[in-house]
Amino acid sequence: MSYTIITACTGCAACVKICPVAAISGEKKQLHRIDPATCIDCGACGRICPYQAILDQASALCQMVKRSLWLKPQVLEAQCISCGLCLEACPTSVLEMVD
Ligand code: SF4
Repeated sequence: MSYTIITACTGCAACVKICPVAAISGEKKQLHRIDPATCIDCGACGRICPYQAILDQASALCQMVKRSLWLKPQVLEAQCISCGLCLEACPTSVLEMVD
């Protein structure tokens, strides 16, 4: 089950702007909707929503997290085999191979 939006949604559209796969739609100031077929369960919408209007895959209410506190991935260079799968999977293409 994907992330879902509940009736606490005010239609602020903060989630629409952050979703990396454009899975969220709706009119401004109206209840929005997540397309479960498009959602990749990244959780960004749940962390950005200021109205606690998003449930995660386990139907638990997501809590807003200040953007500066969002965890970032760290590559363990000694274990990385340079397969490139992370490059292909990243929905926002923020990774690159370096020497
Ligand atoms: Fe979009 Fe991620 Fe929220 Fe799914 S969990 S709707 S992919 S922001």
